[in-house]
Amino acid sequence: MKYISTRGQAKPVTFTEAVATGLAPDGGLYLPESLPSIVGRLDEWEALDYRGLCLEFFKLFATDIPEETLHRIIHKAYDSFTNPAIAPLKTLDDNLFVLELFHGPTLAFKDFALQVLGNLYEEQVRRTGQPITVLGATSGDTGSAAIHGLLGRQGMKIFILYPDGRVSPLQERQMTCTGADNVFPICINGTFDDGQHALKEIFGDQEFRRRHALSAINSINLARILAQCVYYIHGWLRLPRGKREDAVFVVPTGNFGNIFAGYLVRRMGLPIANLRAATNRNDILHRFFTTGDYSVGEVRPSHAPSMDIQVASNFERFLHFHQQGDSARVREIMQSFRDTGRVHFENFENEAFSSSCTDDSGIVEIIRRVHRDHGYIVDPHTACGFTGIDPSRPHVVLSTAHPAKFPDTVNTAIGQEPTSPILEKLKTLQVRNYPLSAETADIRSFIETHSG
Ligand SMILES: *Cc1c(COP(=O)(O)O)cnc(C)c1O
Repeated sequence: MKYISTRGQAKPVTFTEAVATGLAPDGGLYLPESLPSIVGRLDEWEALDYRGLCLEFFKLFATDIPEETLHRIIHKAYDSFTNPAIAPLKTLDDNLFVLELFHGPTLAFKDFALQVLGNLYEEQVRRTGQPITVLGATSGDTGSAAIHGLLGRQGMKIFILYPDGRVSPLQERQMTCTGADNVFPICINGTFDDGQHALKEIFGDQEFRRRHALSAINSINLARILAQCVYYIHGWLRLPRGKREDAVFVVPTGNFGNIFAGYLVRRMGLPIANLRAATNRNDILHRFFTTGDYSVGEVRPSHAPSMDIQVASNFERFLHFHQQGDSARVREIMQSFRDTGRVHFENFENEAFSSSCTDDSGIVEIIRRVHRDHGYIVDPHTACGFTGIDPSRPHVVLSTAHPAKFPDTVNTAIGQEPTSPILEKLKTLQVRNYPLSAETADIRSFIETHSG
């Protein structure tokens, strides 16, 4: 299996190369050159546990990795999950199901992909003998999931920039209380955008980048998307047989990464009736799916901060399919989007998707209602998935975070604070971070000193 760039101007690469590179050299995102069908495999896959299914799925894509290596990578990846089902499907009522994706070490769905990615990087270091330095900027969840994916691994250092005072205290603890020597949480005196800016400059310095074997951790790595495909199949196979083909999968969405994975498995033949993109008040994707208008607005802070995004980076992967693989057209659309901040699709229609949008008061109201009706506590991101559910049709809401990560909003809604043993333990551990200015030169010299 080869991987091609959405922009069509980079040479096709192997799975291993696509994972090591992240972004394609032409600025596009990698996708498989053709999608295998999984229709004939579903009966046989029904008997597999999560790890077994994950291995079978990756065998279709990671064709340049020997099977026993892949087996090791995948089996280890889910050892840090606290629920034996890995992604349990909870039944709230006859037609309402929640796919819980928060049983990993940082209590959000990003662990599914970043634990696998950490193991893939480790394999790369073993094979090439070259250590790597991973660098990223975060406004919260991605940074902690990345840190926990790389924690304590040989031959890898990870530097994560986060804005001082602008991530939640729990998120900060998740990044800074690991006790691991290869982890450098850098608390910058600036905003998330300042962090992104410094990062861009550092990655733009080719010589520095090569010398430190710098690698970016972000939502565009293909391995992340593939790892996320697995829980859609697993969840679908756990539904009662009579409900499977009518089920709507509802996905709290920001960067379009999680829901894009659902779209990919649907294209491979998993009979998902519909995928609903559930946004918070940052509704660019909702506007797109309802009017065909994709235009950036201002990012507005919300109760579901990990979805406070306007430019959904994985959208380009969807465009590839929407434009029937016409890479010249994808380039043109992306260029015009960069120039004007807006693209309009005439007569946009796509039977795969629907969408919804929930503002902050809606989030609080839903947390209260779901708790009252079902005795179940959802986090503010998951809450967005509960807007506009038709009870006559089966729905699976993907739960992207544990409610204990967002105690304040949950407390406002139901007057109690959910807890998690993992988060309670964090409160007793020593914080270790590295405060720096947001100046590129300072950050660069910090990496220089600590990455050797
Ligand atoms: C990252 C995140 C999301 C958004 O996921 P995308 O793949 O960016 O759409 C939703 N909920 C939580 C809790 C997250 O951490």
